[in-house]
Amino acid sequence: MKTLSCKDLGGPENCEHAVSAETFQELGANCQAHVKEQLAAGDQKHQAAVARMYNASPEEQQKMFAAYQQKWEAAAENN
Ligand SMILES: [Zn+2]
Repeated sequence: MKTLSCKDLGGPENCEHAVSAETFQELGANCQAHVKEQLAAGDQKHQAAVARMYNASPEEQQKMFAAYQQKWEAAAENN
C-alpha cells in the first residue's frame, strides 16, 4: 500500500487529502472518486484543477501522468 496526496496527483495546491492504493491504477480511481466528491460539493479549487487537466494538450497530459507515476514509484510502501 502506498499513499500520495491529492495535490501530488494534480489536485489543488492546498489539498492534502491522502489517497492510498495497492497499484497506480487503483490510485487513479481512488483519486478520481475524491475529486468527484469535491466537485459534487461545489469545491472551486478542485473544479479549477480538473479544468486545467482538461485544457492541457495530450502531450502535456502525458507529461503530467508520467510525473504522477514517478511520484507513485518513488513513494514508500506504508502497509
Ligand atoms: Zn483534493
